Amino acid sequence: MELPYAEPYKIKMVESIKRSTQEERVKWIKEAHYNLFNLDSDKVFIDCLTDSGTGAMSDKQWGEMMVGDESYAGSRSFLKLKKTVKEITGFDYFLPTHQGRAAENVLFSVLVKEGDIVPGNSHFDTTKGHIEFRKATAVDCTIDEAFDTAVQHPFKGNIDLKKLENVFQAHPIEKIPFIVFTITCNSAGGQPASMKNIKEVSALCKQYNIPLYFDAARFSENAYFIRKREAGYEHRSIKEIVKEIFSYGDGMTMSAKKDGLVNMGGFIALNDASVFKQATVFNIMFEGFITYGGMNGRDMGALAIGLDESTEFDYLESRVEQVAYLGNKLVSYGVPVQQPIGGHAIFLDANKFVPNIPREEYRGQALALEIYVVGGIRGVEIGTVLADRDPKTRENRYPALELVRLAIPRRTYTNNHMDFIAVTLKNIYETRNLAKTGYNIVEEAPIMRHFTVKFEKI
Ligand SMILES: *Cc1c(COP(=O)(O)O)cnc(C)c1O
Repeated sequence: MELPYAEPYKIKMVESIKRSTQEERVKWIKEAHYNLFNLDSDKVFIDCLTDSGTGAMSDKQWGEMMVGDESYAGSRSFLKLKKTVKEITGFDYFLPTHQGRAAENVLFSVLVKEGDIVPGNSHFDTTKGHIEFRKATAVDCTIDEAFDTAVQHPFKGNIDLKKLENVFQAHPIEKIPFIVFTITCNSAGGQPASMKNIKEVSALCKQYNIPLYFDAARFSENAYFIRKREAGYEHRSIKEIVKEIFSYGDGMTMSAKKDGLVNMGGFIALNDASVFKQATVFNIMFEGFITYGGMNGRDMGALAIGLDESTEFDYLESRVEQVAYLGNKLVSYGVPVQQPIGGHAIFLDANKFVPNIPREEYRGQALALEIYVVGGIRGVEIGTVLADRDPKTRENRYPALELVRLAIPRRTYTNNHMDFIAVTLKNIYETRNLAKTGYNIVEEAPIMRHFTVKFEKI
């Protein structure tokens, strides 16, 4: 019999989480205006809102916190992180930032001008926000297979080369400052891109002289999928695969709250000295001096160790296979989920789960709320609410997929928690036809509305 995976760590400290009754949750979610971001965390039993900054650090990382150097300029912790970033990514220049969107803000301040076009694979919401905020346009060039949750494809995060070349040909090249390649592709369901695709996209970008930047929040998880699914990589180490991925790009923005295995942090790494020089100005303006960029010294030290740990096969196997464990259970119960199962989260297909709720009544949001009320489990809608309104027409944008994401924090929950989630969803799925009405929006912000939007129940 083949041995199953097992976590390459044991537990040294535990944190209590609170259970509550369904009656309590009905009351709490109403008080939160039916926005899961408005809930206090102690009103949540299993928190799958995000895998961002919610993971557990290792004893080595906590040890590093004690020896952090808090010097304003030139701290040891900065130098340690810079060295690790160079070793892992190969990029020469490095700027710390307080999180991923801050890295986008700094880099895009250099690269994005009004009227520009920035192609990519289903840009993450903050990435798109930072592009649109500068009156530029993000164009989605993800392969079509990504938009059908039932299609089996090993690399649904791939970019469609035809779509990308069409964008290159339809616009003057000087209007396309760079492309964003998101690995793994969060918005498409935590789906990886293949090395072959990354290589081909890189070659096409070179042909048109357009830089390629990775949105690399989950680069380690992407590397794990390449090792598991792409011929020729099964005997390569994760660190070798990561190095090869980045060798095809000009730089990266990083949310270290994901594969950095820390609770807060981010950075930019890149090869172009001139872009780096311009970015330092914005980094000082928005983030802090270039040797801390909004991060504590101790946090930079912990991130250096986190990057090393997240690029180890045994860690990645337990991480990604735990998500697959939950996903496969749901599949066996007939619950419609994005397949294959992504690296960091389960994506429920709300169009198939609750088709009786009209899309105008935010069926993804309605499903996410039901999961909270029934199980005390907090997920998040990745659908019409998140997609915001069209900046010009102010109409709702209806994305191809209406999803509810249950993100699994790293090294945090056990497989018993996964079983609890699976049974909760099975029970909701069995009564799904009873749900016929959703929610109306009563208040919303002009951009990135999902964080603060208020709903009323129809
Ligand atoms: C989380 C994330 C970001 C933004 O990073 P923050 O640290 O949350 O600011 C950007 N891109 C992707 C793909 C992400 O998952």
